Amino acid sequence: MRVAVIGAGIAGVCSAFELAADGHEVTVFERRGSVAAESSFAHGGLLAPAYLTAWSALGRRALLQPRRKHSSLQLSTAKLLSPALWRAARFNPEAARRLQPLLSYSQARQAELRHALQLDYERSEGLLMLLRSGRELAAVQPGLALLSELGLPHKQLDAAECLALEPGLSPDTPLQGGIHLPQDEIGNCRQFAHLMRSEARRLGARFRFHTTVQHIEAGAQPQLLHAYTPPEEAQTLSAESETGGDTRPETMEPQLERFDAILICAAGDTAALLKPLGLKLPLQTWQGYSITAPLRQIEAHPDLGPRSGLVDAQYHVALSRIGQRVRVTGVTEIGGHATQLSARAVGTLHKVLHDWFPGAAQHSGIQRWRGARSRVADGLPLLGASGLAGIWLNTAYADDGWALANGAARLLADQLAGRAPAIDGAGMDISRLG
Ligand SMILES: Cc1cc2nc3c(=O)[nH]c(=O)nc-3n(C[C@H](O)[C@H](O)[C@H](O)COP(=O)(O)OP(=O)(O)OC[C@H]3O[C@@H](n4cnc5c(N)ncnc54)[C@H](O)[C@@H]3O)c2cc1C
Repeated sequence: MRVAVIGAGIAGVCSAFELAADGHEVTVFERRGSVAAESSFAHGGLLAPAYLTAWSALGRRALLQPRRKHSSLQLSTAKLLSPALWRAARFNPEAARRLQPLLSYSQARQAELRHALQLDYERSEGLLMLLRSGRELAAVQPGLALLSELGLPHKQLDAAECLALEPGLSPDTPLQGGIHLPQDEIGNCRQFAHLMRSEARRLGARFRFHTTVQHIEAGAQPQLLHAYTPPEEAQTLSAESETGGDTRPETMEPQLERFDAILICAAGDTAALLKPLGLKLPLQTWQGYSITAPLRQIEAHPDLGPRSGLVDAQYHVALSRIGQRVRVTGVTEIGGHATQLSARAVGTLHKVLHDWFPGAAQHSGIQRWRGARSRVADGLPLLGASGLAGIWLNTAYADDGWALANGAARLLADQLAGRAPAIDGAGMDISRLG
């Protein structure tokens, strides 16, 4: 089959690889100059089935403190806490139970590809949830019960055991204890996306960068209209410039092309592509932040910075080891400024980094980033047939697009080929939205 993939974030790149591996003729359309240039660029890198299953148990408390100086939630003054927001932040064990098999399958698929293709990217194993007080320990209990029910390994640690696991932790910040999740991982998503792109190209997939899909038509032979999009570097909020190598457009004029199937991996832009076809997607887009700083190298203190991944449960902030850098990720921003990074959000990330690893990061060369999380209110992705002939979806990954990417791409490729997938994807497709 000739398959078009719209979007070269982690969902699109992994899909391109799996589809090409199945022998399809794959073309990826991406408006930016490189893979992983938007939401997949500098997120926390948590490939963490256990944490992602348990974390929402802590969600509600954060909503009660949005106006504090350091808070995991920032609302513009015009926005109120809507019922949808409350629902989304509440512990939802049903959604967590449905997602967990795909999370574990995805982690296993990534490990399989890592070994088979000898993929070398920055990664580390184990995640430690830091609990500053007894309140957090109490709040996390429903999540831990769910981990036990699902058979996901986890261990409660006291403060001394946390320090033994992560010797760089500051002893000056109050620490009640932690939850160690030994099977969770941290990985550099952007680096992995570049490797997967190379593998997909090796299998014959073509990538057309700086090319925006303006319109799609459903049908037995679905069509798409695409056009060259000149680079607009001024629009990027990240510090790194993007060049992907084969970024030259094949033509400057808008072009209509026919395929046998179109797969949309366009995150928040999926709704705009489907609206003219009469399909209204209830997608919400919330922003999040990261700072990435080089770690100081001092021979006498080899344990500066984290060894692997940590999450501060009070602030919902993740601290991830990314090679010789530390990445601090968090804050949900709703209705923020379109082009300016929030100083308050960035300040919260610096505060949490300083609380746990004071003096570990260099002050120069810090990369600040804001990315979007596109979600449906139930927190599950949109994965599978769209209900429109020839149009498929692999999108709406909210907080776990990296953690789900490899499994979702394999499952989608199986569905598209009419094969039974290794795990049941029921309840993930658009039909659940009525
Ligand atoms: C602060 C923060 C921290 C996070 N931490 C984690 C984490 O630790 N673990 C985890 O698993 N997830 C995490 N996430 C979520 C993760 O970033 C996303 O779920 C994931 O990157 C989504 O990937 P994607 O491919 O769907 O979207 P994207 O990476 O945004 O890719 C979509 C692509 O489609 C392209 N596109 C859109 N429309 C068009 C069009 N019309 N034509 C051509 N191209 C188009 C865009 O340019 C973009 O490149 C985090 C998110 C944020 C914001």
